[in-house]
Amino acid sequence: MTDAFFASDETLSDADGFDAACLRATIDLGALRDNWLTMRRLSGSARTAAVVKANAYGLGIEAVAETLYAAGARDFFVANAEEGAELRPFAPDARIFVLAGLWPGIESVFLDYGLVPVINSEEQLAFFMGLLAEHGEYPCALHVDTGMNRLGLSLPEALALADDPSRPASFSPVLVMSHLACADTPDHPLNGRQLDAFRQVSKAFEGVDASLANSAGVHLGTEYHFDLTRPGIATYGGQAVNGVANTMAPVVTAEARILQVREARAGETASYGAAAMLTRDSRIAIVGAGYSDGYHRGGSGAGVPLRQSLPKGAQGFLRGCRVPQLGRITMDLTLFDVTDVPGAKAGDYIELFGPNLSITEAAAAAGTIDYELLTSLGHRYDRLYLDPED
Ligand SMILES: *Cc1c(COP(=O)(O)O)cnc(C)c1O
Repeated sequence: MTDAFFASDETLSDADGFDAACLRATIDLGALRDNWLTMRRLSGSARTAAVVKANAYGLGIEAVAETLYAAGARDFFVANAEEGAELRPFAPDARIFVLAGLWPGIESVFLDYGLVPVINSEEQLAFFMGLLAEHGEYPCALHVDTGMNRLGLSLPEALALADDPSRPASFSPVLVMSHLACADTPDHPLNGRQLDAFRQVSKAFEGVDASLANSAGVHLGTEYHFDLTRPGIATYGGQAVNGVANTMAPVVTAEARILQVREARAGETASYGAAAMLTRDSRIAIVGAGYSDGYHRGGSGAGVPLRQSLPKGAQGFLRGCRVPQLGRITMDLTLFDVTDVPGAKAGDYIELFGPNLSITEAAAAAGTIDYELLTSLGHRYDRLYLDPED
């Protein structure tokens, strides 16, 4: 390491900053806002919630919640009470629904932060009724399972509850909801069956707001919208409906810095397991991102049995070119074949996904979905939030 080496580094002046980060993610809050507004427009007369569970699909609860609150969102969904408590400062007077519901030992979090539990089972309902008897009126949502067999009261349980004359007056749900299992596959017969079942629920709880549609559900048509829609992935730029062109703006650009470009000869192999055999003299770029950053090992160009049913591994984007990922993706490092990219050099950034390479494609190459790619974005990313007003 000589002084001359450092002196020649253009990024020296910003060595601690984004421009020199090993791994960086740019999050376009303007695109996020526009996507949410698009989902609101598509939701017609229904209100549109913001689904910000899992640290806002991995993008950061604070920036995302502030942006969507400023855009007009007043109904938020989180996975659990801890997430709700974290969200509260950024959505001061909004309704925050907690999807996991409520059980003994965490009720104070709900009260302290004004969180609305989504009641998912008879057991949760009984506990909640006990709280009402003790503390008086408190809002809740009722989740009814209409065919997914995940969380929720069964349809008969929900209908019986609606008709139960012994229901205490303090029990006044502000929302009835259900979740679609196959909304991303519009022709699936389960969609219609769930719609029919949910219509019964919404009718039985007349006067209570009803909510059925996630992102894909919004695209199924007006009859799926009811009073409140719950788009998540579309807001974050992800693919909602299988096989339909994604018109959402990309929100995240993930990039990894080239640490070294090396020359290798035809007949040599690359990365662990010697799984990639070079068929030509090659230039290999090694970037500082790996599976511990959420760049899934399943996307490896070779040598990973997990994804052997798919023809090829992940790609990157560099200087206007697609570059194939080479050999196994490792914990902190990933190899790309940059033989065909003139001028590729250390210090360049390879786009892992973003405007030039969709998260849907990057996820598919790793045998997974946009949701998982986003929510596993690692802690080592240097994050830059582009302000919506810029
Ligand atoms: C995550 C979630 C959503 C949002 O789903 P997307 O497919 O991301 O739009 C809506 N409702 C419930 C109950 C969820 O768990």
